[in-house]
Amino acid sequence: MMLMRGEAAGDTATRAAQKDIFTGAVVIAAIIMFVGTGTSALTSTIDIISGVGGGSDRTLTIALILNIALILFGWRRYNDLSTEIEERKAAEERARSLALRDPLTGFHNRRSLIENGADMLAKAARRDKSVAMLLLDLDHFKNVNDMHGHAVGDALLRAVAAEIAKLMPPNSIASRLGGDEFACCFMFDLANREIVDRVADAVVTRLSQPFDADGIFAHISVSLGIAHSAGDCADVDALMRRADIAMYAAKHQGRNRTAWFDTSMELALQQRNDTENGMRSGIPVGEFVPYFEQQIDLTTGRLGGFEMLARWEHPTRGTIQPDQFIAIAEETGMIADLSISVMRQALLEAKGWDPSLIVSVNISPAQLKDPWLAQKIVKLLVETGYPANRLEIEITETSLFENLALAQSIVGSLKNQGIRLALDDFGTGYSSLAHLRALPFDRIKIDKSFVVSILDNPESAAIVNAITRLGDSLGLSVTAEGIENAAIEERLRQLGCHKGQGWHFGKPMSIGQTRMLLAERNLLPSIRAEAQDATRMDTSPMSLPDEFRKQA
Ligand code: C2E
Ligand code: MG
Ligand code: MG
Repeated sequence: MMLMRGEAAGDTATRAAQKDIFTGAVVIAAIIMFVGTGTSALTSTIDIISGVGGGSDRTLTIALILNIALILFGWRRYNDLSTEIEERKAAEERARSLALRDPLTGFHNRRSLIENGADMLAKAARRDKSVAMLLLDLDHFKNVNDMHGHAVGDALLRAVAAEIAKLMPPNSIASRLGGDEFACCFMFDLANREIVDRVADAVVTRLSQPFDADGIFAHISVSLGIAHSAGDCADVDALMRRADIAMYAAKHQGRNRTAWFDTSMELALQQRNDTENGMRSGIPVGEFVPYFEQQIDLTTGRLGGFEMLARWEHPTRGTIQPDQFIAIAEETGMIADLSISVMRQALLEAKGWDPSLIVSVNISPAQLKDPWLAQKIVKLLVETGYPANRLEIEITETSLFENLALAQSIVGSLKNQGIRLALDDFGTGYSSLAHLRALPFDRIKIDKSFVVSILDNPESAAIVNAITRLGDSLGLSVTAEGIENAAIEERLRQLGCHKGQGWHFGKPMSIGQTRMLLAERNLLPSIRAEAQDATRMDTSPMSLPDEFRKQA
């Protein structure tokens, strides 16, 4: 695009130059004619005016007037040309600056950083020095834009740029790469690495202080990745890529901090990309499957249902746990397909279980931003023929922050269908009573971190006790997660907690293992006959591993 515009400008300039040569030639010819014929023509003209002469050479007079007109025309053209050249120069200067500078902050842009950075790298190599590349990404800048509008966002970016410029050493190159991303580089002595740390720390500290952006006090922070050019980092692109990887590591470590690049980060990124690609191909072919964890009534010991937990049965890596893929599924938008695929398998299976058993399904915060979520779940119930009143949806409090109104509307539609609602991992987030009132929850789940430590940590016991009382007074059922032994189960019973799940009752099981457990307990009416056949063929429920059937 820029090239085409450049070519068009070149053509115009060539045409203008051709016109100028022509004009110049005409003016020079006019002057020569004036010098050659001017004296006699002038005498003849005076004669005509004074009436002395007989007007012997009228032609000569006309030629003189034409000559003067041509000279005047040339003079005017000369003036026009001078103005045009000045304007063209100014436009070229503007275009050059637009091509190399960020118009908002006045910083270099990416192209200019690469050009100037290459010069800096060459200079550093000659002087036996290194170049440090700092890549900065503002944390939660989008919130400022969303809450206060783009004018405030722009003012904040300008203010941030001004602070960065102040903190960089002399002769640094400061650039804005776009959005809320900045990159700065400067030369330093490898033996004196702490100077880079000092600059980076100063930037992180300053940017975590409030900014006055267009009259609004904005609070942000920055994640800053650092790479240096020593070793095999040959060009600016490679240096920026490394700083970018380090910046993502800083974000992952909790934002508002710096991180130096190291090669293990590149490896982790490679692994993450492999996982992401594996997920893209694995979801459609059913590699993601439901596992089921028992949920027990602590007073009667009865099995009340299961929490469905996703597992990735990888063709070469074996069974992979959700902490390895749920976050990636959320970041990449694959969570919706993954969740629906796993739920479909679970509901098709659970349809054949005893009608007293319910299935709880985890819904991630990213899914609760989808206005069509309720419709998708209802469609799934229709497709699988699974009754709505035997499905429970588990959501965490974090789902409610970004858009409580949307969450309320989704949950409202689900509740209207008869689906139950549980608040998962209670006690770990804000545990706000307002959230408990905002949505029609049927159940609170106490996070396993309190339950596993209930015997040794009085604070955990106090929290479990408080949540149980809260559930009682609000009329909500309470389930404790993470019951790892009989002593914890007993303590929970004393505290008045009536439902629970955890490894004490069995680890999450595959579809096949769950089927065996249910057959053993006579909770598989639809395929009871099949289970009896299986007993005769020595695939009896007794072959269920012990860890799944402690309470069987
Ligand atoms: P969660 O919903 O809090 O699930 C309970 C987790 O605690 C499960 O881990 C379960 O295996 C584990 N757990 C159960 N009993 C014990 C115990 O006695 N001790 C200990 N230390 N842990 C126990 P899992 O299966 O690894 O799942 C982890 C998290 O992954 C779940 O936490 C849930 O948030 C998420 N997750 C799992 N499946 C899905 C899914 O299909 N969709 C979504 N969105 N999230 C899922
Ligand atoms: Mg859960
Ligand atoms: Mg939980």
